[in-house]
Amino acid sequence: MQLNDPRLFRQLAYVGGKWTAGSQGSDEPVLDPANGEVIGHCTLLEPEQITDAVTAAEEAFAGWRSMTVNERAHCLHEWYRLLHEHKEDLAQLMTLEQGKPLGDARGEVDYGASFIQWFAEEARRAYGTTIPSHIPNAALGTIKEPVGVSVMFTPWNFPLAMITRKAGAALAAGCPVVVKPANETPFTALALAELAERAGIPAGIFNVVTGEPATVSEILCNDTRVRSISLTGSTRVGKLLLRQSASSVKRTSLELGGNAPFIVCDDVDIDEAAAHAVAAKFQTAGQDCLAANRIFVHRRIYDRFLERFAVHMKALKVGSGMMEVDIGPLIHKRAVDTANELVEDALEKGGRLIAGDQSMAPGANFFMPTLMADVTSSMRIFREENFAPVAGVCLFDDDDEVIRAANDTEYGLAAYVYSNDVRRIWKMMRGLDYGMVSVNTMKMTGAPIPFGGVKQSGLGREGGHAGLEEYLDTKYYCLGNM
Ligand code: NAD
Repeated sequence: MQLNDPRLFRQLAYVGGKWTAGSQGSDEPVLDPANGEVIGHCTLLEPEQITDAVTAAEEAFAGWRSMTVNERAHCLHEWYRLLHEHKEDLAQLMTLEQGKPLGDARGEVDYGASFIQWFAEEARRAYGTTIPSHIPNAALGTIKEPVGVSVMFTPWNFPLAMITRKAGAALAAGCPVVVKPANETPFTALALAELAERAGIPAGIFNVVTGEPATVSEILCNDTRVRSISLTGSTRVGKLLLRQSASSVKRTSLELGGNAPFIVCDDVDIDEAAAHAVAAKFQTAGQDCLAANRIFVHRRIYDRFLERFAVHMKALKVGSGMMEVDIGPLIHKRAVDTANELVEDALEKGGRLIAGDQSMAPGANFFMPTLMADVTSSMRIFREENFAPVAGVCLFDDDDEVIRAANDTEYGLAAYVYSNDVRRIWKMMRGLDYGMVSVNTMKMTGAPIPFGGVKQSGLGREGGHAGLEEYLDTKYYCLGNM
């Protein structure tokens, strides 16, 4: 690995401002998904070292919360600046451990850094209220206070942005954080810790623990000093953390799986809608909670849409993320096996394979973009969160039918609608049971927006003012006898 600043490649955990190793021999190899080679090792902390991270965070809390909002913003702006200064190294690390194309990794540094900048400024608006008093001679109001030690579990598909989207808000609100990154992608998180230290964020305020996931979550969820648990990950792990956090009634914020519908009405520019659907499905090789997983196309334009979709899809270049490609490897061989199973299941149930030749795959962890038509609700590709570069297209005839079909899932994160008819758009926007609806564009994310889902896609919002509120408590005061 050739980094401009080799000190950004850290293999130890970061606890209370110290680079910390687990016990001898307890480390785990981290693999480059493009070729299976070992990039480095992540240390597995012992249970008491995980507890030490909470102790360090709690001890540092008083100092951090009592800083002025300007002082905290100053540290966060410096962190933001350093992320940009080291963008190339961060992108290299991300591509090595996650596999995404280098251009996407650079984009993720920009996107991830934007949360730090945005929350540094938004924290200035953590206003309380005054309440007209119903009690004689009293002054009533509210103030906002940081919730306290905040733990964040983050996934491997966005190793940087899923940390900064949470930590930017928590740190700005005055909370110390303990991050547990995915074991597949610890190095980006550890590089963020190195830069946090250089930015002047005090020891104990930003901790990164690495270890066996089930052990770490059990310890952190059961520690009564931890006041907030946030996860971006699967619905399965979300339910587990919710149960574990119940014993100490923690604040929970969950960004879980998605199964986004992408609805294409018959009044659109077919080629443009097909190009957008390809982009929305194949970003991050389909390993994206916003991926357009069920593409519903009106019967009148169905065949033409499939044709245009196939043309745009076949133009995608597949290969190592270090090369000029659009699609990198999947994270594991297991993910390739699942993709094959989804395609086989759909074929058995009447699906039609339009394109996708796996003999062209450039390595064991690669899956060539695949287009399945005539997908129905009985197929796994319709029912499950499809985290693979396999697009499933379904046919529809009328708007009520497509709204019902789009809502026929336990997930409710994001939905896409393509139409030029404002009544139709409004009806779908209201009828779709999703936390986010994007109309005639697939680019909807960013620091100012309240990102999040309904149903089993999660609880709470990240980004926007709502994202800051996740890390603030409202304290009511009543000054009597004034
Ligand atoms: P995952 O649920 O397997 O793991 C997420 C994190 O939780 C990891 O750090 C993991 O180590 C940790 N974890 C904590 N306790 C655990 C336990 N007991 N067992 C296993 N892991 C535990 O998710 P993933 O595979 O890393 O990421 C993919 C998932 O993330 C997908 O479902 C995707 O939709 C979701 N995701 C959601 C969003 C969103 O904003 N809604 C964004 C990105 C990814």
